[in-house]
Amino acid sequence: MNSIHHLQELQSIDSSLSEIRSYLGDLPVKVDELKSKETQIINELEDGKERLKHIEVEMNKIELEINSSKEKIDSLKDQLFKVNNNRQYDALMVEIDHLKESIDKMETNELELLEEKSQLTEKVKSQEENLETLTTDLSERRSKLESTMAKSGDQKEKLEEERTNQRDEIPQSLLSRYDRIAQARKGLAVVSVNGSACDGCGASIPPQIVAYVRTKSGLHNCDVCGRFLFWKDKNLN
Ligand SMILES: [Zn+2]
Repeated sequence: MNSIHHLQELQSIDSSLSEIRSYLGDLPVKVDELKSKETQIINELEDGKERLKHIEVEMNKIELEINSSKEKIDSLKDQLFKVNNNRQYDALMVEIDHLKESIDKMETNELELLEEKSQLTEKVKSQEENLETLTTDLSERRSKLESTMAKSGDQKEKLEEERTNQRDEIPQSLLSRYDRIAQARKGLAVVSVNGSACDGCGASIPPQIVAYVRTKSGLHNCDVCGRFLFWKDKNLN
């Protein structure tokens, strides 16, 4: 095998490795994001349900107080008929007005709680739906992550071994050039000639260079991007 073939092999191994890395790179982050969103919704749901219980208790308490105030008013009204002077009459009226005022306030408060209850019930319902979707999504992603990690772990190990073997076949000076170009060109150091253009940067390659690359007898780098060029036979790949 000649040098360009070894370089092609090395490039294909390196590209597969970086694919594995970038694929896995995104998944754990996504799983973490979903998990923290799930925790947040669970906490909010708990708070919402707690508040709903509290509202229920509060509304019952207000209802009782309103009823007892109304009873008091009734009994005060009965007393109105029994008083024998204006002073007593006025005092009872003041007390009745005071109770009416406090009933008004309690009724307003009750309405506000009722409004809050209806909004919160709606919110809790939609959060429960959200949570269900999220939990399904999360468990799907988590199992995908686990199987991908297991699979790609094996694959990665195999590729790394192949990589070491392949690098052993390539002279050190050429390896250094490969590494330098790969580093400068987002991991892509070896590209095919596509018709009469560099597949890496699209620059056109002069016919005599194309002919030279086709013979596979030596190495040539693209004049524009510096990547190693190889000829891809149409009947292969
Ligand atoms: Zn190029």
